[in-house]
Amino acid sequence: MRNRTALAVCLGLFALAPIGLMAVDAKTSLKIDQEIEKVRPEIIKIRRFIHMSPELSNREYETAKLVAAKLTSLGLEVKTGVARTGVVALLRGGQPGPTVALRADMDALPIQEATSVPFKSLNPGVMHACGHDVHTSIALGAAMVLVNIKDKIKGNIKFIFQPAEEGAPQDEEGGAELMIKEGVLENPTVGAIFGLHVWPENVGQAYFSTGNIMAGADWFEIQIKGRSAHGARPHEGIDAVVLAAEVVTALQTVISRAIDPTDPAVLTIGKIEGGTRSNIIAEKVTLEGTVRALSDSNRKKIPQLIESVVKGITQAFGATSSLDYRQSNPPVFNHPEFGETMLPTLVGVLGKDKVLPLPPQMVAEDFSFYAQKIPGFYFFLGVKTPGQAPAAPLHSSNFNPDERSIPLGIKLMCHLALDALEKQNPPEPEPSNL
Ligand SMILES: [Zn+2]
Ligand SMILES: [Zn+2]
Repeated sequence: MRNRTALAVCLGLFALAPIGLMAVDAKTSLKIDQEIEKVRPEIIKIRRFIHMSPELSNREYETAKLVAAKLTSLGLEVKTGVARTGVVALLRGGQPGPTVALRADMDALPIQEATSVPFKSLNPGVMHACGHDVHTSIALGAAMVLVNIKDKIKGNIKFIFQPAEEGAPQDEEGGAELMIKEGVLENPTVGAIFGLHVWPENVGQAYFSTGNIMAGADWFEIQIKGRSAHGARPHEGIDAVVLAAEVVTALQTVISRAIDPTDPAVLTIGKIEGGTRSNIIAEKVTLEGTVRALSDSNRKKIPQLIESVVKGITQAFGATSSLDYRQSNPPVFNHPEFGETMLPTLVGVLGKDKVLPLPPQMVAEDFSFYAQKIPGFYFFLGVKTPGQAPAAPLHSSNFNPDERSIPLGIKLMCHLALDALEKQNPPEPEPSNL
């Protein structure tokens, strides 16, 4: 599945650099801090504006307009309408070198906001409950900072503002896959890519692990077709509701009995629809669900198991069934060598005790498509106010990230991009007297 050849080629550029502390010099580091202080009020305003005007996947028109206008005002080369509403900007550094990308997602979710923040969503039923307003603001802030230290940049930085991370509407393409198809990793060729996700842990902390850090996510729909009859004469029909209940229960044993417990997987049926009336034997039931898995072997095995369980149960009672199974996001993969190269940057910015390992999460992210093509570095950024009660989780109507995470996110993204480029241009060794 993963494109090993492409990775190897890119790693030739990126992972052979010496592993060390942050590569950026102290003067540039100080300048970054000063620039962040300057942009902070504006970027908080922008974040609140985006939060108030959330837009669903592939419909990020106003967000994209705002992002493109800001990037254009910085003098970057800006391309709009990439993968429908995506925006891509290129910052050419003052010195020659390779290109790295910083990626943010821009879409919101169909959730009615329940927080009481003064910049609450003004779009009924739509909310930035996954923190993509924060991601967009961080990437935009990084562009605002980096443009002011352009002369120090040894290569190029591409800013990717991607639509539809949460999934394009049915029958539409979108998200990272379409961005790649439309050439976002080319012209100039991007050698490595960075992304982050807000995480309901303390501000000031980041979480990172190499290997698969998020699961692959698949969607499926099962249709069970029986035969309707009077509710009081079940023997004359084939009850699709009873069979659906059997199927839901039996599918749980796919994970608990047929999958290696040390290789995590999740199977959730999130939606059931069927029947017409209380006293009619249901003819048809539709079940919709998601499968999450980390390994290629489980991703291959689980659909076959689902199919055989559904067929076995329905056939035993004379019903028919169909399974529509679609793989969507592959697991998010942090390449170990590239991760080792860049981890010191996180530690250098936040401190050793603030960068923590995280076991793979069974949520998914379409950043995985980029990381299949080139070395990717994806980490989680704490956004919980320290000392307060547990933060509302992602996708909750009460999700309310602490905005102090934004300047910190900008700082991390700036240093990651600069260090990645710097490490390709290691300074000439000091002449030795020995
Ligand atoms: Zn989400
Ligand atoms: Zn998200």
